[in-house]
Amino acid sequence: MPRRKKWRWVYVELPKEIDGEIELSLDELEAIRLADVEGLSQIEAAKLMGISQPTFHRILKEARRKVGKALIEGLRIRVVGGDHIMRKFRCFDCGHEWEEPFGTGRPEACPKCGSPNFHRVDAGRRRGRCWRE
Ligand SMILES: [Zn+2]
Repeated sequence: MPRRKKWRWVYVELPKEIDGEIELSLDELEAIRLADVEGLSQIEAAKLMGISQPTFHRILKEARRKVGKALIEGLRIRVVGGDHIMRKFRCFDCGHEWEEPFGTGRPEACPKCGSPNFHRVDAGRRRGRCWRE
């Protein structure tokens, strides 16, 4: 039998409309994905992003603050990229792996053998899936 709901007070009001915008950087979005969606520990998530745990903590804290602010104030969230975010690719034909900065588009071919037959391998994507661009 379900327990009876206990009354609770909230002082928040729903925003009347979506008005305004807040920028979330790609690393902030990734921090939220790894910690809050995938449920990784900060140590695991920091390792996947190639940063220290204190840095991950700082990024995640700021990301959550921005998302919270967007929910409360009815702001649109715009995700902005950055050159320092890297993507990793692997060639199916020669096995070569290489990295490209985010936002530079999909590479044309494997830089080693010239094959167009390659896929993205991001550390954050597990269970053998690669993600589409
Ligand atoms: Zn290749």
